[in-house]
Amino acid sequence: MGPIAVPPPATDVITDLIDEHVRQLGGRFHSEYYQTHEPVGRHTTLGGATVETRVLARFQRHHSGERQRLVTVGAEARCLGHGCTEPSSGETLTDPVPLDTNRHEVAESALPHIETATRWAQAHAERCRAQTYTSR
Ligand SMILES: [Zn+2]
Repeated sequence: MGPIAVPPPATDVITDLIDEHVRQLGGRFHSEYYQTHEPVGRHTTLGGATVETRVLARFQRHHSGERQRLVTVGAEARCLGHGCTEPSSGETLTDPVPLDTNRHEVAESALPHIETATRWAQAHAERCRAQTYTSR
């Protein structure tokens, strides 16, 4: 048996996404508006496909006033199986908060959404017969 891969806590993945965004804001061709995601959990369906639990981070800027930068975080579960009839749990997101809000607080605010997405992923994996694309 190989070494056991211990995934980083989902909250660390979110703080990394925010760090990454702030870093690229210092660059010349930075982007103020985008949404990014990163897998934080995986389940395998009856058919052998993967259901990913993903954290989401959306970055934007107020259109008026001081044009404050904002961040929204959340989660989604997505089935990557071929022919899956219900491949997404839907995205659930927190309310936008200023980008300079404490990152750990921001990350922790996503926890209920991550739990919901993980439960969906688990339940979906137990009944989905979709297979991986490569196994066709
Ligand atoms: Zn599925």
